Amino acid sequence: MLDKQTSQRILLDIIKLYPRKHKRRDAFYVLISTVLSQRTKDANTERASNALFRKFPTAYELSKAKVEEVEKLIKSAGMYKQKAKRVIQIAQEIVGRYGGRVPDTLENLVKLKGVGRKTANIVLAVSFGIPAIAVDVHVHRIANRMGIVKTKKPEETEVALAEILPKEYWTRLNGAMVNFGQRICAPRNPMCSVCIFREVCSYGQRNASGDSGSRDARS
Ligand code: SF4
Repeated sequence: MLDKQTSQRILLDIIKLYPRKHKRRDAFYVLISTVLSQRTKDANTERASNALFRKFPTAYELSKAKVEEVEKLIKSAGMYKQKAKRVIQIAQEIVGRYGGRVPDTLENLVKLKGVGRKTANIVLAVSFGIPAIAVDVHVHRIANRMGIVKTKKPEETEVALAEILPKEYWTRLNGAMVNFGQRICAPRNPMCSVCIFREVCSYGQRNASGDSGSRDARS
């Protein structure tokens, strides 16, 4: 496992070199699009979110939508039957409990049906600028693979990363790690030969002869 100083330097480099620009930061959009993003690619999420928000731009409107209509609009995101019910329910809860405004605390966000800690932290960080580290599968995988943390669960990774990274950088970590994971450190076949972290990364050092080729590098 890497020491804290090296780990911090790597995380700061990833934040600096692989920033992720969010096209929209309004809380309801970020919340719903994050729910839609589960187990699908960014392009599919964007297509589904755009179609949905063209028709139902607010929590009030989505709360009254018919499930079948939402299903059609978000089909590209996959698991659309389940996701359609979930986003309508979230909209109804936001209207019923919070007057149509997305809550800005972790405690209240995770009370929304189907909203977990990762989604809540993304909303807090992206929409409200509140320091939060959103740990999804990408962040958890890359941090463990590189040797920055040694954890079993995303919740443990969140705590470990919070101890390494100064608070002012928390909001930018998730987007940068996702971007880095998509461009270089993919779940399978990470591009170690062109990765600037190869000399310090635990996985990169073990595989110093080049890219992992067809090997499954999900470790
Ligand atoms: S060296 Fe390979 S495994 Fe390590 S961060 Fe870079 S791409 Fe990922």
